[in-house]
Amino acid sequence: MESRQKTVLIIQNNHEMRRRLEHSLLGSPYQIVTASRALEGLDVARHLVPDMVLTDLDLPDLNGRELATMLRIDPRFRDSAIVALCRNASQDERELGFAAGINGFIEESTQLETLSVWVDFYMSGGTDGIVDTEQLAAAQDRFLQDLLGRLERRVRDLESKNEALERADKMKDSFIQLTAHELRTPLTLITGYSRLIEDYPSLRGLIQSDQELRQLVGGLSESIGRMQSIIEQILTITRIMTRQIELNLRPLVIAKVLANVIQQYESALRDRQLRLLFDPLQWPQQIIADEALLRITLDNLLSNAIKYTPNGGHVSIQGRVEGNMLRITFKDSGIGIARELQEQIFERMHIGGNVDLHTTSKTAFGGGGLGLGLAICRGIVESHGGTIWVESAGRDEERLPGSEFIVMLPLAPRNVTAPVTTSRIKPLPARSSG
Ligand code: ADP
Repeated sequence: MESRQKTVLIIQNNHEMRRRLEHSLLGSPYQIVTASRALEGLDVARHLVPDMVLTDLDLPDLNGRELATMLRIDPRFRDSAIVALCRNASQDERELGFAAGINGFIEESTQLETLSVWVDFYMSGGTDGIVDTEQLAAAQDRFLQDLLGRLERRVRDLESKNEALERADKMKDSFIQLTAHELRTPLTLITGYSRLIEDYPSLRGLIQSDQELRQLVGGLSESIGRMQSIIEQILTITRIMTRQIELNLRPLVIAKVLANVIQQYESALRDRQLRLLFDPLQWPQQIIADEALLRITLDNLLSNAIKYTPNGGHVSIQGRVEGNMLRITFKDSGIGIARELQEQIFERMHIGGNVDLHTTSKTAFGGGGLGLGLAICRGIVESHGGTIWVESAGRDEERLPGSEFIVMLPLAPRNVTAPVTTSRIKPLPARSSG
């Protein structure tokens, strides 16, 4: 029976040294695999279960001793040879290594010339450690102390890095919010000036009679509108993230709000030959919610359903009461969403598909935006105490499996709740709005 080829895993951070070790074992009967970091080495080892691990002692993530301990607690490595490559290791260092589960040391300065002989030696069960039990027990104590000391330093280091990241994240959010605020003021002026131009008595007639001029002015105001909606989206998401969202809860007839939203898409639906199924009579009479925020949610979901459904398809919007919740579904016959992305698309700035193909249109097929729409929807829905998710059999632009977005809203939410989303995307302390 043919015996399995034995494997040596070399874990070495230094590229030159890794190549040298590999080269020294070229003629050997072993299969050589390499890793450059301890964690990568652990993954490879757990996958391949090599017969020998030859690791550097000073690796950037875990050191060689910690790596050996991690391997030894896995029963599959109880009998494997774990050997450390070292540079003038002291007796103390060697003892610590044995305590961690290392079988032997190969000295870089003297033993590399004969590496294959040493590998054969350890492969066939050889060990270095002639440490008596008392010495070993003392070394194990020192090793444990060393390990715990390193663990504490790592945790402290991670905590301070985490604090720095949170500070940077907060600064970034404030920066985005301030920028959007600053842009809103001149944009409001630009909007005003553009309206003045359209309505200016001596220009009005000219604009109406000159088709090209009409198109230019139309393009200008359409672009301004788009810019305004981008800035509003940014401001809404920063408000959600910084918990500056306050619900203005009032009884409202949701079918009426929806009819209003749909009205804005009538010409797009016509141009794209999309059939919309919506029967206001089937909807519950009244719910309690923040109308403006709910409108943003419904608008986003309808705009997405249109954007991701090719011409000739259909979109249905249904609402029904389930217990004390209102279940709203937006179902389209569009391209669908890959299962692995169905949670991610609710994160900020998540854009599925090819960004280059985005047209930043609210209704063109495949048109995209900032990837903020669904994050905003989730923030708003959760701030009402509701949930939102998507169901789709996957993305397929040929077979068009479609997507169904489901929104569950309490019919009468308790007053002003902080959106749950903020805790998932690192909450910031409440700030005074400005
Ligand atoms: P965007 O402004 O890019 O549309 P959203 O947050 O609204 O951002 O959506 C995020 C991503 O989710 C989109 O880029 C798209 O890939 C996917 N998506 C959203 N709605 C649908 C849908 N109805 N059908 C298919 N994909 C969708």
